[in-house]
Amino acid sequence: MSVIALNPCIACGACCAFYRASFYWTEAAPDAGGTVPPELTERLTPFMAVMKGTHSSKPRCICLQGNIGEQVHCNIYPQRASVCRDFNYSGQDGQPDERCEKARAAWGLPPLCPPSPVEPDQPIKPKAA
Ligand code: SF4
Ligand code: SF4
Repeated sequence: MSVIALNPCIACGACCAFYRASFYWTEAAPDAGGTVPPELTERLTPFMAVMKGTHSSKPRCICLQGNIGEQVHCNIYPQRASVCRDFNYSGQDGQPDERCEKARAAWGLPPLCPPSPVEPDQPIKPKAA
């Protein structure tokens, strides 16, 4: 089985339609070595750019294709900004990721790392006075 087949993001896309995807503006400046196509971004502040569609009360990145929770892909995947490359899915490094789970929950998707059930014989800590 390939690693790609195990990546839950291809059947999700929730974070790309939940968070503002902003980054230092040079990432969308080809003259400065940026890889993100500038026409797909807008300036947020003098120093920050944002993916079009994500600076909204109902965000959805202009580059997100497909149906959330079914099958999606990013049109600029190899050129995406650091904020996108650095976003881990929950469980990717063996730990739950709160941001991933929050975006999934907002789209009605189940958690990737459900909380562990409390062991029945686990002692209950007394509350601090
Ligand atoms: S919300 Fe999590 S699982 Fe969904 S696309 Fe983003 S990182 Fe991947
Ligand atoms: S550029 Fe790609 S990975 Fe980044 S928010 Fe848009 S669709 Fe998601």
